[in-house]
Amino acid sequence: MDFDLIIIGGGIVGAAAAYRAGQLGARTLQCDRRDKGRATDAGAGILAPESSTRDGRLWYDFALDAVDYYSVLIDDLTADGVPIEELTRAYSLCSKLSVALDDTEAAALAEMEQEIYARQEERRPPSAEMIRRISPAEARNTFFPPLADASAVLLQPVSRRVDGRLMTAALEGGLRSRGVRTLDADVSALLLEDGRVYGIRTASGEDYTAGAVLIAGGAWSAAFADQLNVRIPVAPQRGQIIHLHVPGQDTSSWSIVGGFSGHYQVPWPGGRVAVGATRETGSGYAPQATVEGIQEVLHEALRLAPGLRNAAIQEIRVGLRPYTSDHLPLLGSIPRVRGVYLATGHGPTGLTLGPFSAKLVVEQALDQPFAWDLAPFSTTRFIR
Ligand SMILES: Cc1cc2nc3c(=O)[nH]c(=O)nc-3n(C[C@H](O)[C@H](O)[C@H](O)COP(=O)(O)OP(=O)(O)OC[C@H]3O[C@@H](n4cnc5c(N)ncnc54)[C@H](O)[C@@H]3O)c2cc1C
Repeated sequence: MDFDLIIIGGGIVGAAAAYRAGQLGARTLQCDRRDKGRATDAGAGILAPESSTRDGRLWYDFALDAVDYYSVLIDDLTADGVPIEELTRAYSLCSKLSVALDDTEAAALAEMEQEIYARQEERRPPSAEMIRRISPAEARNTFFPPLADASAVLLQPVSRRVDGRLMTAALEGGLRSRGVRTLDADVSALLLEDGRVYGIRTASGEDYTAGAVLIAGGAWSAAFADQLNVRIPVAPQRGQIIHLHVPGQDTSSWSIVGGFSGHYQVPWPGGRVAVGATRETGSGYAPQATVEGIQEVLHEALRLAPGLRNAAIQEIRVGLRPYTSDHLPLLGSIPRVRGVYLATGHGPTGLTLGPFSAKLVVEQALDQPFAWDLAPFSTTRFIR
């Protein structure tokens, strides 16, 4: 056997999985095809489950543990020699505003507020960092100067943002220091015998064997379903996001802003503000910007923050989110086939959940103890 574990995919999930496997001392190979439309390269980077009520309780509980895991990961990467400046550019704490622009959105905000408080009382005791209302004037003067004249604003004083590209690069630094082997390769098939996966074949015809194979191929993961004779119900959902440059402003201390139309804004140091994003279910594998998508993103951006009207358009990014219909990831072993594991389907919240998911699935694949019941995330939930 060449390796203990082979990981297919080099987005945030594949990179975090490879890093965890390296930490556990497993002989590991990570293969990546670097597809155009890799979701990690386009992700906005909001890590804020505390103020997200869109998804259910299971998602919320998992996401709270997942954001806690980020601090463990940052400490571990620091100890493994990844420069602290690199990590600080990749991941940082910041505040977040939820902004209602009219009476209908204000009613939605009030409902959301009740749910946040109920969850917070139950899971995390109230603290000085508790989410609270602030006046629209305070929101604009202190937290996000380009903001519209809002109806109601909720402040989450402590939230986080992650740059998917930089975080993946930091994980790559960590996994190299742990002796993980990486390969730029297109994995064209799994090696399968008697209901057990024992390796992979690349498009150039090389075979590599392993005790276990982990599929972390994002929106492309379903390509292995036929061979495994299972459903892997993940599909690409295109997201278009625009990076703006606001000259002469110190954007480093601005808040993340979330609106009620599904759109948001994420400030970064150096005058950069990312505004997004479309959610195009059924887009197929078509990672290009479109006229309609860009119009939607800019329209919503200016509705939330008219003060951005003179910002320069710096870059348009397009990613294919690995979408599942119930907004939960697909994690862990697969029924009836041994030696193969999934860590995919993180949809719009893979930067939040991905590293933690990857850690748990690697621990399962390597027969280590792991701290979450992965059964609710199994593909079996889609079998009637
Ligand atoms: C516009 C946008 C905004 C987003 N905002 C947020 C956000 O604010 N917060 C949040 O938490 N999440 C966000 N997300 C979601 C998040 O980015 C994704 O869920 C996450 O990055 C998925 O990571 P992944 O590693 O599973 O997939 P990807 O990053 O897509 O990586 C998959 C990798 O696998 C490789 N691969 C696939 N098949 C093969 C094969 N056969 N052989 C070799 N390699 C293969 C691909 O080439 C690719 O490199 C956003 C996404 C988008 C598009």
